[in-house]
Amino acid sequence: MKYADTVLDLVGSTPLVKLNSVASGVRATVLAKLEYMNPSGSIKDRIAVSLVADAERSGKLAPGGTIVEPTSGNTGVGLAMVAAIRGYDAVFVTPDKVGKGKRDVLSAYGAEVVVTKTNVAPDSPESYYGVSDRIASERAGAFKPDQFSNQAGPEAHYRTTGPEIWNDTDGRVTHVVMGPGTGGTITGTGRYLHEASEGRVKVVAADPAGSIYADHSADLHSYYVEGVGEDMIPDTYDPSVPDGFVTVDDAAAFEMTRRLAVEEGLLVGGSSGMAVVAALETARELDEDAVVVVVLPDSGRGYIDKIFNDEWMAEHGFTTAARRGGDVLAAP
Ligand code: PMP
Repeated sequence: MKYADTVLDLVGSTPLVKLNSVASGVRATVLAKLEYMNPSGSIKDRIAVSLVADAERSGKLAPGGTIVEPTSGNTGVGLAMVAAIRGYDAVFVTPDKVGKGKRDVLSAYGAEVVVTKTNVAPDSPESYYGVSDRIASERAGAFKPDQFSNQAGPEAHYRTTGPEIWNDTDGRVTHVVMGPGTGGTITGTGRYLHEASEGRVKVVAADPAGSIYADHSADLHSYYVEGVGEDMIPDTYDPSVPDGFVTVDDAAAFEMTRRLAVEEGLLVGGSSGMAVVAALETARELDEDAVVVVVLPDSGRGYIDKIFNDEWMAEHGFTTAARRGGDVLAAP
């Protein structure tokens, strides 16, 4: 019989698939790594498993303990899944701008969700960081993974994502493209691939226009693509890892996200579309020997009301040409 002991054993070992239609005219091979195939639906399962295992080993988390983290995104979902299996309580603190749909996913895994006001300074005790600190200090046995500083994050990618890309391409990968959020993926994966290839593999960071990574002196502003980019440099990001940067604006990222669904059958999130734009820009300069691997962090299911919704796209000034679907009323 072939089965896993728990769902946690199914994290990682995600497949690569070649991009065809969106890469037409490109001579290099462009391969997408499908992180939505992780059990809770994103790349963050890798760090969720690793953050909890590391805390158990060091005694920061023990039976009866509670995981407390200020997140509403994929890290929360991954941690909620791990907490369910390992028998911990989980409390996630999210600002009220986060949609109910995302909070409901966390509750579905049995987690508690505490909602805070969005319009308060990040250092205020009322901010979601402040509230999560208070809950962590009040609850006995609380553990705060802190995904923006915990080195178990980048290490998870050094141990898993990097070797998977190296092995699945038989060491022929020449370029790897990823969008940093905490920077854990690019730091761990990039470091491994640099070492394995003795510096031959080039690591390209895809960054939203308005974020700090590609250009520290750029005019920082908000953007709609989720999960990537920052307005400060977190400890989980090693600036010596990327060999180059490509800046991608929301419009280009979202257009590619929609094309990936209708042309490649890949229903993925906006940060995946962004990374693919950067990967194709990189690949266009390369010849047929090049193998460009692009990491697609999550599924498009969480963005049906946004990127895949024509009204939302129009309201935010994005074009919706790259989509064939849509509801049509049945003829009476
Ligand atoms: N895309 C999405 C959708 C994410 O949730 C994240 C995690 N913040 C990333 C990309 C970036 O990954 P990392 O935090 O490892 O840099």
